[in-house]
Amino acid sequence: MICPTCNGREETIVLACGPDGCGFRVMPCGTCDGTGAVDDRYPTWKQQGRLCKEKRCMPIYHDLKEMADLLGFDVVTMSRMERGLSDPASLLLLLEA
Ligand SMILES: [Zn+2]
Repeated sequence: MICPTCNGREETIVLACGPDGCGFRVMPCGTCDGTGAVDDRYPTWKQQGRLCKEKRCMPIYHDLKEMADLLGFDVVTMSRMERGLSDPASLLLLLEA
């Protein structure tokens, strides 16, 4: 499906700050990694990923890396699952256990 963040344009405009100050910059879209498309299951994954994040943060906040280490995921994979960029089903199962 067409990426809902960039609407298939593959880029997003972000406010970025560096040694030369702050300004708007065109960056590859972070949702679709600059491809303009996401998996058709993205809306479902995003909803499930949000639930995973809620379970990690409520009622007691757990750091993403700390929880990833505990559950045996690498932090990048777990972050992608929480954002709906990859299937969070296995994470959700562990968090609901
Ligand atoms: Zn995109």
